[in-house]
Amino acid sequence: MVSLKDYTTLKIGGKCLVYEPKSCKELEQIICRLEGENRRYKVIGNGSNILVGTHLKDLVVVTTRSIKERPVIHQTTVKVSAGQNINSLILLLAKSGLSGLERLYGIPATVGGMVVNNASAFGTQICSIIESVQVLDGKKVKILDKSQIEFSHHSSSLQGSGLTLLSVEFSLKRLAPSTIYGIIKETIEKRKAKQPKGNSAGSMFKAAPDGRPAGLLIDMAGLKGLCEGGAKISEKHANFFLNQQNATFYDMRRLIKKAKEGVKQKFGVDLELEVEIIGE
Ligand SMILES: Cc1cc2nc3c(=O)[nH]c(=O)nc-3n(C[C@H](O)[C@H](O)[C@H](O)COP(=O)(O)OP(=O)(O)OC[C@H]3O[C@@H](n4cnc5c(N)ncnc54)[C@H](O)[C@@H]3O)c2cc1C
Repeated sequence: MVSLKDYTTLKIGGKCLVYEPKSCKELEQIICRLEGENRRYKVIGNGSNILVGTHLKDLVVVTTRSIKERPVIHQTTVKVSAGQNINSLILLLAKSGLSGLERLYGIPATVGGMVVNNASAFGTQICSIIESVQVLDGKKVKILDKSQIEFSHHSSSLQGSGLTLLSVEFSLKRLAPSTIYGIIKETIEKRKAKQPKGNSAGSMFKAAPDGRPAGLLIDMAGLKGLCEGGAKISEKHANFFLNQQNATFYDMRRLIKKAKEGVKQKFGVDLELEVEIIGE
């Protein structure tokens, strides 16, 4: 049993059984075994969109973040394992003059988690670059063409489907490495200007149904800087909730509740969580 604190960017969480496969083959074997034993399991990537609760009894977590397999480039396509870190992939592709993913630079995530959540930043949605994915359906390996998956803003039909993503094939475009490095640099600067440092899970809430950013509503409700125990709403970006000082799940949950109540009271808007809670 290990603490899930070390497996999420929020650094909050109780203990449970964690498997950390080093290859796709090992991931496949672990999932097949868990399926065979009828165990309750959750596959995660870098845990950068996850808040861990306290009801973790009988849960097995399988993290893909330590799968280290070389991306396979063929002309303008690249096949990568689900556990691939997005930032090292973008740098590798830049060196090869392959463009498409660079505006996603700086997200602390695995490719698998980003595809499942259809991550996006600065005008690029990851789904626009996907060609196909390889998944484990129970114990069977299948290839799904992009057209077989539904994507919407920060969401896909892979979420909660029970499928385990093994690898992804992206279709890229040729561009001079210097131009790609320029876009990466610009992206780093934009991210630095907007987002706070510290332990967070990125945006806590989705945008309001009318499209207004949750951070703007939380800010206008006067909640920037609000603390609950060790959890704090960032002063720099009100949709970033920070684990400032050993925050517990309960600290974070109280802060979420206060933000929701504040926004509801002031604007009549029900904010919906973007971050996923496991083991609540
Ligand atoms: C500082 C910071 C900045 C961020 N900026 C952005 C941003 O600009 N844009 C954006 O879209 N998001 C952003 N995020 C949120 C987060 O990084 C994304 O949601 C990302 O897609 C999650 O990837 P992950 O590997 O951490 O997945 P996790 O958080 O570990 O998991 C996310 C979901 O994917 C599922 N999953 C993961 N891997 C697999 C797999 N192999 N098979 C099946 N299911 C799987 C999990 O079960 C879970 O449901 C940010 C987060 C942080 C901390």
